[in-house]
Amino acid sequence: MDLNSESDEREGRPSASAIEQMKLCPGSWKYQQILPQIESSEASEGTTRHDLIEQVIRGKLSLSDVDDDQQHECCKRALDLLQKIETEIEVGWADLDNQHQWLEERVWVHDGAKKLYSAKYDLLRDYGNGTFLLVDWKTLFGDHTPAQENVQLLAQALAVYRNSPSRIERIYCALAEPFPSPTYSLVEYTTDRLEQAFEFIQTIVTKAEKDDANRIPGLKQCKYCDALAICPESRMVISKAFNLNPTELDSEILSEAMNIASLAEKWAKAVKERTRQMIGDGEEVFGWKLRGSGTVRSIDSADACAKRLMETNQLSWSEFLSANKTSWSGLIKIWKAKRMITRDEAVSELESILVDIVKERPKSEALVKA
Ligand code: SF4
Repeated sequence: MDLNSESDEREGRPSASAIEQMKLCPGSWKYQQILPQIESSEASEGTTRHDLIEQVIRGKLSLSDVDDDQQHECCKRALDLLQKIETEIEVGWADLDNQHQWLEERVWVHDGAKKLYSAKYDLLRDYGNGTFLLVDWKTLFGDHTPAQENVQLLAQALAVYRNSPSRIERIYCALAEPFPSPTYSLVEYTTDRLEQAFEFIQTIVTKAEKDDANRIPGLKQCKYCDALAICPESRMVISKAFNLNPTELDSEILSEAMNIASLAEKWAKAVKERTRQMIGDGEEVFGWKLRGSGTVRSIDSADACAKRLMETNQLSWSEFLSANKTSWSGLIKIWKAKRMITRDEAVSELESILVDIVKERPKSEALVKA
């Protein structure tokens, strides 16, 4: 396979994941480069989930070895979705092997001698007869553009095609979302469509690379923008809140207020993160400092703690246990290890033993964009 995959980083060039933002706000590309990137903890959890799915698909990790409940559910649902997508496009993976699939590989698209952008896809499968499937996992809750309108997926498909044009007749691209309920969207790109896509994406990137590219605010493009904390255009949107009349918060005004509130929340978070980073780097932010928040005590070994306390003859086991929380994930982990069974078997046994003790409660409903 000559997919020209490269393991080096983005080399300061755009990546497929940035192209939708470049399209919505051309000025964001250059403007974000003013500030160093801050990786959020949400992104880290997303990376962990991507890594786990990758290892399970590669066969390096068994699904039953993913102990964390949410991560296990995420991997399980991702695999189920993959199967459903393959059923819909009428291809089978059973007879194929790792020679026909690639995970987390970066490929480049050139514009003449210049590198235009790179694309790192989550999963690419080759079913023979020129049919490929490219999958992008969205492992966290969030508002994602469906595959049919998703510029990131189009850019990824183009990158794959550009690196192996003779082998590809059609690429199916799927956006697979394990949460909140497992769902996917799917688009089929023919080679004609991909040939046309080059000019479309080239125009987006070229426009965004101009020094005077316009900054166009909007919740979708601003919420993960590294320049949000300093961007005057996003503040203009937030300042519109002052024109809303709180005595007339009808459904239409509330809807507008919600858009502003969501952006304002992200803006406040971005300002705090920047301030924390600057002070942490030794710079002064007038009137603000980092203050230690004291210490918290934790018990390293519940087992050793229990033994010591029981030796005092002051507490009964039930009194001791009433001061402790037992996690469902932790129980599954120890039951699985003790019984030397799979995770699914451990869950099933524990559910049956603890039938009236383990309760499933709905989490509070999240307010999301319809
Ligand atoms: S904050 Fe919004 S308007 Fe400002 S550069 Fe970023 S995406 Fe563009």
